[in-house]
Amino acid sequence: MSGINLEHISQHFGEQIALRDVSLTVKEGEFFSLLGPSGCGKSTLLNIIGGFLEPTKGVVYIGDQDVTTLPPYQRKTGMVFQSYALFPHLTVFDNVAYGLKVQKKKKAEIKQKVMESLSLVQLDSFAKRMPHQLSGGQQQRVAIARALAIQPSVLLLDEPLSNLDAKLRKNMQSELRNIQRNVGITTILVTHDQEEALSLSDRIGILGEGRIQQIGTPLEVYRQPNNRFVAEFIGQVNLFEAEYDEASSTYIVPHFTQSNGQPVQLKAEGDKEKRKKHLLMLRPERISISSVREEAQPNHVTGVLADVSYIGHSLRLVVRLDKGEIIVHASDAAFPHLPEVGETVHIHWQPEDIVFLDSKVHT
Ligand code: ATP
Repeated sequence: MSGINLEHISQHFGEQIALRDVSLTVKEGEFFSLLGPSGCGKSTLLNIIGGFLEPTKGVVYIGDQDVTTLPPYQRKTGMVFQSYALFPHLTVFDNVAYGLKVQKKKKAEIKQKVMESLSLVQLDSFAKRMPHQLSGGQQQRVAIARALAIQPSVLLLDEPLSNLDAKLRKNMQSELRNIQRNVGITTILVTHDQEEALSLSDRIGILGEGRIQQIGTPLEVYRQPNNRFVAEFIGQVNLFEAEYDEASSTYIVPHFTQSNGQPVQLKAEGDKEKRKKHLLMLRPERISISSVREEAQPNHVTGVLADVSYIGHSLRLVVRLDKGEIIVHASDAAFPHLPEVGETVHIHWQPEDIVFLDSKVHT
């Protein structure tokens, strides 16, 4: 097992710049996800770590070794792709044995390692089957067993679950996490699915515009995104462009006005440093909604329901003000009857739920 260290990686494809000066460290045994929208450079970075692409600039270390120019088979990395890429004419056993045969291991050792890997993914009794006799989830587990059989120091996963349906995907996510914990292998997962990254990872690196926008634990990137890009990419969000008003000690939001024509004024817990920031975030689930106006609340606003969508465990409500809209997520249990579009509602939240962001995206 080894950690990974990337130093100042850039990747140019002709005029196109896919990665700009990316540096990051993945600790030994860590489950690290690279998360970002389509085209942000996730797969490019994974291919650079796996040795399928040599970076235009920068250095890749696996453990203490500079592997920047080494081919994939000399890097001790195991890779699982989105299209499981099993060999259709080989049995499960022979698929998993493939890398070991290339390494010219002895027959007995191959058998032992293949069966150990299949047992890790709970497919020991499927060794003689052909890939087409397996479900999508089972095929994906064979692909994982095949990557693990060569006992790599690092496991690289490129959107390995994106071909699976929602339920199977959830099951495979927890299986993947269990396998990773059991083996204790340093793992990098590429995904554009924020829930997947939040639920599986020790830490997440969010890529946008070819740059790392933030690295942190799931809790840090969700609760304390450091800029607009991260806040908008992970979960839903209300953003307010505001100015601090010394006289009232509140933040005035000119783009949001109430029925009396006055701009919304927010109370937030900010020190002098934070007051220099003009972009404020409020997560929809931090807002409470009620049919009576709660004057005693430090932040309260009245509006009209413009949209109600029922998502099972929660409701997504859009509250329209005179100017501007605020999204609220409320628990299903809070509503015996669904509220109706057109109803007047009152919303409130606490000053500590306002988070200060950088308006600028790292470009
Ligand atoms: P997705 O989630 O859609 O797979 P991604 O974040 O993995 O996207 P990459 O595949 O890393 O994105 O691509 C990053 C950028 O580099 C994209 O704009 C892509 O078009 C470009 N790119 C990737 N590979 C090449 C290539 N071989 N030649 C030219 N441009 C490329």
